[in-house]
Amino acid sequence: MNNSFPNTKFDMKNLFNLKILQGSWITFAFILMFLQTNLFAQKPLEGKVILAAFAHPDDEMTVAPILAKYAREGAKIHLVIVTDGRLGVNDKTDYVAGGGVIAMRQREMKCAASKLGVELIHLKYHDQLKSGEGYDGHIPHVRSMIKAMHGIVEKLKPDVIITWGPDGGYAHIDHRLVSLTMTQIFTSRVWDRPTSLYYYGTPTESIEDPKTKWGSSSKIIQGQDKKYLTTHVSYTEEDMIKAYNSVICHVSQLQHTRSWETYKAKREKNGKIIYLRKFVAPTKISNSVFD
Ligand SMILES: [Zn+2]
Repeated sequence: MNNSFPNTKFDMKNLFNLKILQGSWITFAFILMFLQTNLFAQKPLEGKVILAAFAHPDDEMTVAPILAKYAREGAKIHLVIVTDGRLGVNDKTDYVAGGGVIAMRQREMKCAASKLGVELIHLKYHDQLKSGEGYDGHIPHVRSMIKAMHGIVEKLKPDVIITWGPDGGYAHIDHRLVSLTMTQIFTSRVWDRPTSLYYYGTPTESIEDPKTKWGSSSKIIQGQDKKYLTTHVSYTEEDMIKAYNSVICHVSQLQHTRSWETYKAKREKNGKIIYLRKFVAPTKISNSVFD
């Protein structure tokens, strides 16, 4: 009895210590797993920078699902919106062009950017870049815009720029000017970064109704042949939901207040793909236009 008692006591203590030790190891392993999955897990595009440049508050909706996708994958996305959107009124609302609309669209744009998870740079140039004021109004305004955009590219050093294509969606002067400006900046020198420039495009074959309110053929006004739209970026349902939640921020632009079902159906009809055209420059010097 006397011999066995201390042994029993000893065994119990050891067992107790062993359990504490085992518990500590399990806790330690859990902490390690947590750190691995949460702190050290790098997203695939961590460190990459995208600059998306568009003309008006709501233009970003054209590429919204892939902005959400790349943000989810870890890229830092800066969204430049060039104009203040003061002329963005329509016959379905009572809004009057000018100051009230500017303030409203500014708020809507902030909402949309935060839903997408992108950094907003809203330059607030005059809608239509003062083209209504003729040469002396328009040209200084555009030159100022070019310098501002150039400064943004220099400062942010994005890996990639995404902007409107030459069609500007439907030949809108601001859309086309932003596209031209980014092309001009990109080709003004050989940059370390950005290395790539992409234009958003609508495949001609996906335009079902060729006649529009513009009184012309949509295929000619907007369409780009798929031969040139060689970058096809797909996105997930989660990205599409984020994009939809950003699009509906633009309450003053009534056409965007469509239901989730309508939005989803339209996106799915396009195969949940955004088509882009990469700017490609020849790499060899030629001495003939027929090469
Ligand atoms: Zn626009």
